[in-house]
Amino acid sequence: MSCPKNEPITDFQSVCPGLFYATPARDGILSRIRIPGGIINSQQGRAIAEFAERFGEGYVHVTNRANLQIRKIQGITPEVLTTLQKVGLAATLTEVDHLRNIMASPTAGIDLLELIDTRPLVRELDAYICGHPELKGLSPKFSVGFDGGGAVSICEQKSEIGFWAIALKNNIYFQLILGDATNILLKPEECLSVVVAIAQVYLDNVDQTLTRKLRLKHLLQDKGVEWYLQQAERYLPFSLLKRLKSTLDKSINPKKYHHLGVHPQRQAGLSYIGIILPLGHLSSKQLHSLTKLAENYGSGSLRLTPWQNLLISDIPNSSIPHVKDEIERLGLDYRANQIQGSLVACTGKTGCTSSATDTKKQALDLADYLKKHISLDVPVKIHFSGCPKSCADHGKSDITLLGTLIEKDETFVEGYHIYVGDKEHPFGRELYTNVSIAKVPQQILQMLEVYQIKRTEGFGSFGKFTNRYTIAKLRQLFHEEGQ
Ligand code: SF4
Repeated sequence: MSCPKNEPITDFQSVCPGLFYATPARDGILSRIRIPGGIINSQQGRAIAEFAERFGEGYVHVTNRANLQIRKIQGITPEVLTTLQKVGLAATLTEVDHLRNIMASPTAGIDLLELIDTRPLVRELDAYICGHPELKGLSPKFSVGFDGGGAVSICEQKSEIGFWAIALKNNIYFQLILGDATNILLKPEECLSVVVAIAQVYLDNVDQTLTRKLRLKHLLQDKGVEWYLQQAERYLPFSLLKRLKSTLDKSINPKKYHHLGVHPQRQAGLSYIGIILPLGHLSSKQLHSLTKLAENYGSGSLRLTPWQNLLISDIPNSSIPHVKDEIERLGLDYRANQIQGSLVACTGKTGCTSSATDTKKQALDLADYLKKHISLDVPVKIHFSGCPKSCADHGKSDITLLGTLIEKDETFVEGYHIYVGDKEHPFGRELYTNVSIAKVPQQILQMLEVYQIKRTEGFGSFGKFTNRYTIAKLRQLFHEEGQ
């Protein structure tokens, strides 16, 4: 598709629909830049920072698929987009740029414990996508994730197709995660052909004329996984169904938030440092500075995480103290026990009409309040969601706050239902309902204080601690011991 030269783009969807997946949002045009595997080099970092300064409001957001969003975009010309395309940002084939980012562990290739470096697989799949315009028929939610089996796992970050590395009898395989099918083993070199076959079955069976395409997961629910695998086999030189019958004796045990702070790499003498970006927010000035820091002390790359933070890798151990000072000078933090490091919130009512509450602002206010009143020695993941759709995080949280409007004296005030742990409901178990926003900080503080006292008895994470009690007992504990 060609774009008119030198004129600002106003209708993104019809003029250049593929180059960036730009869509109107409540607060203006929203542009999403796919970053396969979440890794950007310093040239790309600078280009994004300049783009956000010139056409946005001087900041970017790292999303929960480790790509980037720039909000309130104005006045872009096609030439600017082409320039960004030249530095490897956005697909070279515009038709497929709407597809979801390919996700991989942000520590791929540097993780001390990983079984396999997934970066080559990400590159291979991205190159395939960018070379096949027929894939434009896939649903925008079509998503693939690769987990290399390391300490920083993305297994809990949902993708429609997942590949999780597993070691069996001295060989490394990937466990294919597709709907309910989780016990199919693939050799690493088979993964791409399986994605291609799954995509082909989707294209064969979904009406391409629909504007709102059926999701792969719904097609799987509708037809059944066995049917789907049978269809995929028509495009493969091996059987998936035969492998479905095998059993696996190892289960994945994902760890969380092992990426913040300083960690040794598999490369001797080098470390990476995980930096907290409050709710994924990064000003263009900070992005410029972090890019420079990565160039001066690391290999120049920044690794975005699906937990909306970022890593600088390949830093000689002797330079770590200096890098830590520089990070603090930028107003950022790297300590894993900071509430902001494990805080998640969806866009909220400023950017989404479905939201009952101003999630982002209220989440940051809560983090500020807790920082002043409690010092945590383990991360506690707190998730704010403006509605049950839970866009910001489909994984498990220790505490989830679900936005609601509470009627009070014939008006409505913003508030939250509070869920804890990971049992029953997708959000956990409902602990309190209709807590007005004014009371939320104190309520959460009380819960964390009780946990701090009790966790000396060896309860592990906050979520696991709450899982051990009935809701009635939890209410009693938080009420009595929090007095
Ligand atoms: S979770 Fe709901 S309120 Fe939040 S961004 Fe998604 S749709 Fe909007």
